[in-house]
Amino acid sequence: MPPVSQELTGSWVGRLAQAYGLPVQDLLRGACSGPRPVKVTGAFGTAPEVFLNEPARAALGRLTRTPPARLHELLPSFGPTHERLTDDIGPQAGWFSPRSAWVTACLPCTRRSWSPRQPVLVYPGAAGHVCRRHRRWLLADARTSVSAPLQALPEVLAAHRHHTSLLRARPQAAEVVALASAVVWSWQVQGWHGDPIWRRRAVTLASFTGCSAASAAAHALVPYPETIAVARVLGDRHWHQRVRAAAAGQGFRAAHSLLLEEFGRRTGRPWLSDWMIARTRTRTRTQRGSAAEHDPLLWWLERLLASGDAPEEELWRMPALLSRPSQFGDRVALGGGSPVRPVIDDARAAFLTGGWEPTVVTGPGEVASCR
Ligand SMILES: [Zn+2]
Repeated sequence: MPPVSQELTGSWVGRLAQAYGLPVQDLLRGACSGPRPVKVTGAFGTAPEVFLNEPARAALGRLTRTPPARLHELLPSFGPTHERLTDDIGPQAGWFSPRSAWVTACLPCTRRSWSPRQPVLVYPGAAGHVCRRHRRWLLADARTSVSAPLQALPEVLAAHRHHTSLLRARPQAAEVVALASAVVWSWQVQGWHGDPIWRRRAVTLASFTGCSAASAAAHALVPYPETIAVARVLGDRHWHQRVRAAAAGQGFRAAHSLLLEEFGRRTGRPWLSDWMIARTRTRTRTQRGSAAEHDPLLWWLERLLASGDAPEEELWRMPALLSRPSQFGDRVALGGGSPVRPVIDDARAAFLTGGWEPTVVTGPGEVASCR
Protein backbone atom coordinates (compact mmCIF):
# COMPACT_ATOMS: atom_id res chain seq x y z
CA MET A 1 0.00 0.00 0.00
CA PRO A 2 2.52 2.67 -1.10
CA PRO A 3 1.53 6.34 -0.96
CA VAL A 4 0.53 8.12 -4.14
CA SER A 5 2.93 10.95 -5.00
CA GLN A 6 1.93 14.21 -3.23
CA GLU A 7 -0.68 12.38 -1.13
CA LEU A 8 -1.88 13.74 2.21
CA THR A 9 -0.38 11.64 5.03
CA GLY A 10 -3.90 11.41 6.50
CA SER A 11 -5.23 9.98 3.24
CA TRP A 12 -2.49 7.33 3.11
CA VAL A 13 -2.90 6.39 6.81
CA GLY A 14 -6.65 6.05 6.23
CA ARG A 15 -6.05 3.72 3.28
CA LEU A 16 -3.51 1.71 5.31
CA ALA A 17 -6.04 1.25 8.10
CA GLN A 18 -8.62 0.00 5.60
CA ALA A 19 -6.11 -2.47 4.19
CA TYR A 20 -5.42 -3.80 7.72
CA GLY A 21 -9.15 -3.77 8.56
CA LEU A 22 -8.58 -1.48 11.54
CA PRO A 23 -9.95 1.85 12.75
CA VAL A 24 -7.36 4.52 11.94
CA GLN A 25 -6.58 5.30 15.59
CA ASP A 26 -5.95 1.60 16.26
CA LEU A 27 -3.54 1.48 13.33
CA LEU A 28 -1.60 4.43 14.77
CA ARG A 29 -1.55 2.83 18.22
CA GLY A 30 -0.42 -0.48 16.78
CA ALA A 31 2.28 1.09 14.61
CA CYS A 32 3.61 3.10 17.56
CA SER A 33 3.42 0.36 20.20
CA GLY A 34 6.35 0.50 22.60
CA PRO A 35 7.32 1.70 26.06
CA ARG A 36 5.51 5.02 25.53
CA PRO A 37 1.93 4.98 24.20
CA VAL A 38 1.25 7.22 21.20
CA LYS A 39 -0.49 10.52 21.95
CA VAL A 40 -3.12 11.35 19.35
CA THR A 41 -4.75 14.78 19.05
CA GLY A 42 -8.04 14.91 17.15
CA ALA A 43 -9.44 12.00 15.19
CA PHE A 44 -9.65 10.70 11.64
CA GLY A 45 -12.51 12.58 9.98
CA THR A 46 -12.14 15.75 12.06
CA ALA A 47 -9.42 16.98 9.67
CA PRO A 48 -8.07 15.40 6.49
CA GLU A 49 -4.38 15.58 7.43
CA VAL A 50 -2.38 13.85 10.15
CA PHE A 51 0.97 15.23 11.30
CA LEU A 52 3.48 12.97 13.06
CA ASN A 53 6.52 13.64 15.22
CA GLU A 54 9.83 11.94 14.52
CA PRO A 55 9.24 8.80 16.68
CA ALA A 56 5.80 8.31 15.06
CA ARG A 57 7.26 8.78 11.57
CA ALA A 58 9.94 6.19 12.31
CA ALA A 59 7.28 3.76 13.64
CA LEU A 60 5.16 4.14 10.49
CA GLY A 61 8.28 3.56 8.38
CA ARG A 62 8.95 0.32 10.28
CA LEU A 63 5.33 -0.84 9.91
CA THR A 64 5.37 -0.30 6.14
CA ARG A 65 9.05 -1.24 5.70
CA THR A 66 9.69 2.04 3.95
CA PRO A 67 12.47 4.47 4.94
CA PRO A 68 10.99 7.70 6.35
CA ALA A 69 13.04 9.67 3.79
CA ARG A 70 11.23 7.82 0.98
CA LEU A 71 7.86 8.46 2.64
CA HIS A 72 8.73 12.16 2.87
CA GLU A 73 9.46 12.23 -0.87
CA LEU A 74 5.92 11.04 -1.57
CA LEU A 75 4.05 12.68 1.34
CA PRO A 76 4.65 16.47 1.49
CA SER A 77 3.38 16.79 5.09
CA PHE A 78 5.33 13.80 6.46
CA GLY A 79 7.95 16.12 7.97
CA PRO A 80 9.04 18.33 9.62
CA THR A 81 7.09 18.00 12.87
CA HIS A 82 4.00 20.22 13.21
CA GLU A 83 4.52 23.03 15.74
CA ARG A 84 1.59 21.76 17.83
CA LEU A 85 3.27 18.41 18.43
CA THR A 86 5.61 19.14 21.32
CA ASP A 87 6.58 15.66 22.59
CA ASP A 88 9.93 14.79 21.04
CA ILE A 89 10.52 11.55 23.01
CA GLY A 90 7.35 9.47 22.72
CA PRO A 91 5.35 9.07 19.48
CA GLN A 92 2.72 11.73 18.81
CA ALA A 93 0.17 12.33 16.05
CA GLY A 94 -2.31 15.15 15.44
CA TRP A 95 -5.18 15.53 12.98
CA PHE A 96 -5.04 19.17 11.85
CA SER A 97 -6.03 21.21 8.81
CA PRO A 98 -3.56 20.86 5.93
CA ARG A 99 -1.24 23.81 5.48
CA SER A 100 -2.12 24.15 1.82
CA ALA A 101 -4.92 23.39 -0.61
CA TRP A 102 -5.68 19.75 -1.39
CA VAL A 103 -7.83 18.02 -3.98
CA THR A 104 -9.30 14.58 -4.57
CA ALA A 105 -6.93 12.75 -6.93
CA CYS A 106 -8.06 11.95 -10.46
CA LEU A 107 -10.01 8.69 -10.12
CA PRO A 108 -8.97 7.07 -13.45
CA CYS A 109 -5.30 7.90 -12.72
CA THR A 110 -5.28 6.45 -9.19
CA ARG A 111 -8.08 3.88 -9.32
CA ARG A 112 -5.87 1.03 -8.10
CA SER A 113 -5.12 2.97 -4.89
CA TRP A 114 -8.75 3.78 -4.07
CA SER A 115 -10.90 1.88 -1.67
CA PRO A 116 -14.68 2.20 -1.52
CA ARG A 117 -14.73 4.45 1.53
CA GLN A 118 -11.37 6.21 1.24
CA PRO A 119 -10.46 8.33 -1.78
CA VAL A 120 -6.90 9.45 -2.44
CA LEU A 121 -6.34 13.09 -1.44
CA VAL A 122 -3.34 14.95 -2.86
CA TYR A 123 -1.67 18.34 -2.71
CA PRO A 124 -1.99 19.82 -6.22
CA GLY A 125 1.01 22.13 -5.78
CA ALA A 126 1.37 24.84 -8.42
CA ALA A 127 -0.64 23.20 -11.20
CA GLY A 128 -1.78 19.69 -10.20
CA HIS A 129 -5.43 20.69 -10.17
CA VAL A 130 -6.13 19.53 -13.73
CA CYS A 131 -5.70 16.06 -15.23
CA ARG A 132 -5.28 16.81 -18.92
CA ARG A 133 -5.20 13.10 -19.76
CA HIS A 134 -8.70 12.58 -18.41
CA ARG A 135 -9.81 16.20 -18.96
CA ARG A 136 -10.90 16.92 -15.42
CA TRP A 137 -10.58 19.83 -12.97
CA LEU A 138 -10.05 18.17 -9.58
CA LEU A 139 -12.28 19.38 -6.75
CA ALA A 140 -11.91 18.70 -3.02
CA ASP A 141 -13.98 16.18 -1.09
CA ALA A 142 -12.57 13.84 1.57
CA ARG A 143 -15.21 11.16 1.07
CA THR A 144 -15.73 10.62 -2.65
CA SER A 145 -14.36 11.31 -6.12
CA VAL A 146 -15.26 14.80 -7.28
CA SER A 147 -14.06 16.57 -10.39
CA ALA A 148 -15.46 18.73 -13.16
CA PRO A 149 -15.22 17.40 -16.74
CA LEU A 150 -13.51 19.85 -19.08
CA GLN A 151 -14.64 18.54 -22.47
CA ALA A 152 -16.96 21.54 -22.82
CA LEU A 153 -14.25 23.95 -21.64
CA PRO A 154 -11.30 23.38 -24.01
CA GLU A 155 -9.88 26.82 -23.19
CA VAL A 156 -9.28 25.63 -19.60
CA LEU A 157 -7.28 22.65 -20.84
CA ALA A 158 -5.30 24.89 -23.22
CA ALA A 159 -4.60 27.32 -20.37
CA HIS A 160 -3.34 24.48 -18.19
CA ARG A 161 -0.92 23.45 -20.93
CA HIS A 162 0.45 27.01 -21.01
CA HIS A 163 0.49 27.10 -17.19
CA THR A 164 2.70 24.01 -16.93
CA SER A 165 4.99 25.38 -19.69
CA LEU A 166 5.34 28.60 -17.71
CA LEU A 167 6.25 26.62 -14.58
CA ARG A 168 8.93 24.73 -16.49
CA ALA A 169 10.35 27.89 -18.06
CA ARG A 170 10.39 30.25 -15.09
CA PRO A 171 11.33 29.63 -11.45
CA GLN A 172 8.99 32.44 -10.39
CA ALA A 173 6.01 31.24 -12.41
CA ALA A 174 3.82 30.70 -9.32
CA GLU A 175 4.40 34.33 -8.28
CA VAL A 176 3.65 35.51 -11.83
CA VAL A 177 0.37 33.54 -11.87
CA ALA A 178 -0.58 34.90 -8.42
CA LEU A 179 -0.06 38.46 -9.69
CA ALA A 180 -1.99 37.72 -12.89
CA SER A 181 -4.84 36.31 -10.78
CA ALA A 182 -4.92 39.60 -8.84
CA VAL A 183 -5.11 41.55 -12.11
CA VAL A 184 -8.00 39.43 -13.38
CA TRP A 185 -9.73 39.57 -9.99
CA SER A 186 -9.54 43.40 -10.16
CA TRP A 187 -11.50 43.11 -13.42
CA GLN A 188 -14.02 40.68 -11.92
CA VAL A 189 -14.92 43.09 -9.12
CA GLN A 190 -15.28 46.03 -11.48
CA GLY A 191 -18.66 45.21 -12.85
CA TRP A 192 -17.96 42.39 -15.30
CA HIS A 193 -20.53 40.06 -13.75
CA GLY A 194 -22.43 40.07 -17.01
CA ASP A 195 -19.32 39.09 -18.98
CA PRO A 196 -20.69 36.39 -21.31
CA ILE A 197 -17.45 34.36 -21.32
CA TRP A 198 -17.27 34.08 -17.53
CA ARG A 199 -21.02 33.60 -17.34
CA ARG A 200 -20.85 30.64 -19.75
CA ARG A 201 -18.07 28.99 -17.74
CA ALA A 202 -19.91 29.51 -14.44
CA VAL A 203 -23.10 28.00 -15.93
CA THR A 204 -21.10 25.04 -17.30
CA LEU A 205 -19.36 24.42 -13.96
CA ALA A 206 -22.68 24.75 -12.11
CA SER A 207 -24.32 22.23 -14.44
CA PHE A 208 -21.66 19.63 -13.52
CA THR A 209 -21.70 20.26 -9.79
CA GLY A 210 -25.40 20.87 -9.26
CA CYS A 211 -25.18 24.35 -7.74
CA SER A 212 -26.32 27.75 -9.00
CA ALA A 213 -24.25 29.75 -11.50
CA ALA A 214 -23.92 32.49 -8.85
CA SER A 215 -22.25 29.97 -6.53
CA ALA A 216 -19.87 28.76 -9.25
CA ALA A 217 -18.88 32.32 -10.27
CA ALA A 218 -16.27 32.76 -7.50
CA HIS A 219 -14.49 29.47 -8.30
CA ALA A 220 -10.92 29.55 -9.61
CA LEU A 221 -11.90 27.74 -12.81
CA VAL A 222 -14.00 30.65 -14.12
CA PRO A 223 -11.18 33.23 -14.69
CA TYR A 224 -8.42 30.61 -15.15
CA PRO A 225 -7.85 31.03 -18.93
CA GLU A 226 -7.63 34.83 -18.58
CA THR A 227 -5.31 34.47 -15.57
CA ILE A 228 -2.87 32.32 -17.51
CA ALA A 229 -3.12 34.56 -20.60
CA VAL A 230 -2.19 37.59 -18.46
CA ALA A 231 0.56 35.63 -16.68
CA ARG A 232 2.18 34.73 -20.00
CA VAL A 233 2.52 38.43 -20.85
CA LEU A 234 3.60 39.58 -17.39
CA GLY A 235 6.22 36.84 -17.19
CA ASP A 236 7.65 37.40 -20.67
CA ARG A 237 10.93 39.37 -20.66
CA HIS A 238 10.39 40.42 -24.29
CA TRP A 239 7.19 42.08 -23.16
CA HIS A 240 9.09 43.76 -20.31
CA GLN A 241 11.37 45.32 -22.95
CA ARG A 242 8.46 46.38 -25.17
CA VAL A 243 6.66 48.01 -22.25
CA ARG A 244 9.81 49.83 -21.11
CA ALA A 245 10.41 51.07 -24.68
CA ALA A 246 6.81 52.31 -24.99
CA ALA A 247 7.10 54.16 -21.67
CA ALA A 248 10.46 55.69 -22.64
CA GLY A 249 9.15 56.84 -26.01
CA GLN A 250 5.55 57.80 -25.30
CA GLY A 251 5.08 57.77 -21.55
CA PHE A 252 3.42 55.67 -18.84
CA ARG A 253 -0.07 55.76 -20.35
CA ALA A 254 1.21 54.37 -23.65
CA ALA A 255 2.86 51.48 -21.81
CA HIS A 256 -0.37 50.82 -19.88
CA SER A 257 -2.41 50.88 -23.11
CA LEU A 258 0.01 48.52 -24.82
CA LEU A 259 -0.42 45.95 -22.06
CA LEU A 260 -4.21 46.28 -21.93
CA GLU A 261 -4.53 45.96 -25.71
CA GLU A 262 -2.49 42.76 -25.59
CA PHE A 263 -4.60 41.40 -22.72
CA GLY A 264 -7.77 42.28 -24.66
CA ARG A 265 -6.45 40.51 -27.75
CA ARG A 266 -5.40 37.37 -25.86
CA THR A 267 -8.59 37.10 -23.78
CA GLY A 268 -11.05 37.75 -26.61
CA ARG A 269 -12.23 41.07 -25.20
CA PRO A 270 -11.27 43.78 -27.73
CA TRP A 271 -13.04 46.44 -25.65
CA LEU A 272 -10.86 45.81 -22.59
CA SER A 273 -8.26 48.54 -23.19
CA ASP A 274 -10.73 51.41 -23.78
CA TRP A 275 -12.93 50.27 -20.88
CA MET A 276 -10.08 49.94 -18.41
CA ILE A 277 -8.39 53.24 -19.31
CA ALA A 278 -11.68 55.15 -18.92
CA ARG A 279 -12.24 53.35 -15.63
CA THR A 280 -8.72 54.11 -14.35
CA ARG A 281 -9.04 57.83 -15.11
CA THR A 282 -12.42 58.07 -13.38
CA ARG A 283 -11.11 56.22 -10.36
CA THR A 284 -7.96 58.33 -10.13
CA ARG A 285 -10.13 61.42 -9.81
CA THR A 286 -12.40 59.95 -7.14
CA GLN A 287 -10.05 57.87 -4.97
CA ARG A 288 -7.43 59.03 -2.52
CA GLY A 289 -3.86 57.92 -3.08
CA SER A 290 -2.29 56.79 -6.31
CA ALA A 291 -4.14 54.49 -8.71
CA ALA A 292 -1.38 51.90 -8.24
CA GLU A 293 -2.47 51.46 -4.61
CA HIS A 294 -5.77 50.02 -5.86
CA ASP A 295 -4.80 48.36 -9.15
CA PRO A 296 -2.34 45.43 -9.27
CA LEU A 297 -1.51 46.03 -12.94
CA LEU A 298 -0.60 49.69 -12.36
CA TRP A 299 1.37 48.64 -9.25
CA TRP A 300 3.32 46.11 -11.34
CA LEU A 301 3.86 48.56 -14.20
CA GLU A 302 5.30 51.18 -11.85
CA ARG A 303 7.60 48.51 -10.39
CA LEU A 304 8.73 47.33 -13.83
CA LEU A 305 9.52 50.82 -15.10
CA ALA A 306 11.37 51.73 -11.91
CA SER A 307 13.22 48.45 -11.57
CA GLY A 308 15.97 48.91 -14.17
CA ASP A 309 18.48 46.16 -13.46
CA ALA A 310 17.08 45.38 -10.00
CA PRO A 311 16.41 41.69 -9.17
CA GLU A 312 13.23 40.52 -10.81
CA GLU A 313 11.82 39.14 -7.54
CA GLU A 314 10.84 42.69 -6.64
CA LEU A 315 8.27 42.64 -9.46
CA TRP A 316 6.14 39.99 -7.80
CA ARG A 317 6.05 41.04 -4.11
CA MET A 318 2.55 42.40 -4.30
CA PRO A 319 0.86 44.11 -1.31
CA ALA A 320 -1.68 41.79 0.31
CA LEU A 321 -4.40 44.40 -0.24
CA LEU A 322 -4.14 43.89 -4.01
CA SER A 323 -4.16 40.09 -4.09
CA ARG A 324 -7.09 37.91 -5.11
CA PRO A 325 -8.80 36.71 -1.89
CA SER A 326 -7.84 33.08 -1.31
CA GLN A 327 -10.97 32.39 0.75
CA PHE A 328 -14.09 31.57 -1.25
CA GLY A 329 -16.35 33.51 1.15
CA ASP A 330 -14.22 36.64 0.83
CA ARG A 331 -14.54 36.53 -2.94
CA VAL A 332 -18.32 36.13 -2.76
CA ALA A 333 -18.55 39.07 -0.32
CA LEU A 334 -16.40 41.33 -2.51
CA GLY A 335 -17.95 40.20 -5.77
CA GLY A 336 -21.32 41.56 -4.68
CA GLY A 337 -24.64 40.94 -6.34
CA SER A 338 -25.74 37.90 -4.30
CA PRO A 339 -26.53 37.17 -0.64
CA VAL A 340 -23.29 35.78 0.78
CA ARG A 341 -24.29 32.96 3.13
CA PRO A 342 -26.66 31.02 0.79
CA VAL A 343 -24.06 31.24 -2.00
CA ILE A 344 -21.31 29.87 0.24
CA ASP A 345 -23.55 27.05 1.52
CA ASP A 346 -24.56 26.14 -2.03
CA ALA A 347 -20.95 26.17 -3.23
CA ARG A 348 -19.76 24.12 -0.25
CA ALA A 349 -22.34 21.44 -0.99
CA ALA A 350 -20.97 21.32 -4.56
CA PHE A 351 -17.31 21.02 -3.33
CA LEU A 352 -16.41 24.41 -4.81
CA THR A 353 -15.16 26.21 -1.68
CA GLY A 354 -11.88 24.29 -1.37
CA GLY A 355 -9.29 23.02 -3.81
CA TRP A 356 -6.57 24.68 -5.84
CA GLU A 357 -6.11 28.45 -5.81
CA PRO A 358 -3.55 30.58 -7.69
CA THR A 359 -1.37 31.19 -4.64
CA VAL A 360 2.38 30.83 -4.24
CA VAL A 361 3.59 27.37 -3.22
CA THR A 362 6.68 27.97 -1.07
CA GLY A 363 7.64 24.43 -0.14
CA PRO A 364 6.28 20.93 0.49
CA GLY A 365 2.80 21.26 1.87
CA GLU A 366 3.26 24.98 2.45
CA VAL A 367 1.53 27.89 0.78
CA ALA A 368 1.88 31.63 1.09
CA SER A 369 -0.10 34.36 -0.56
CA CYS A 370 1.90 36.48 -2.94
CA ARG A 371 2.68 39.62 -0.93
ZN1 LIG B 1 -6.38 11.43 -14.71
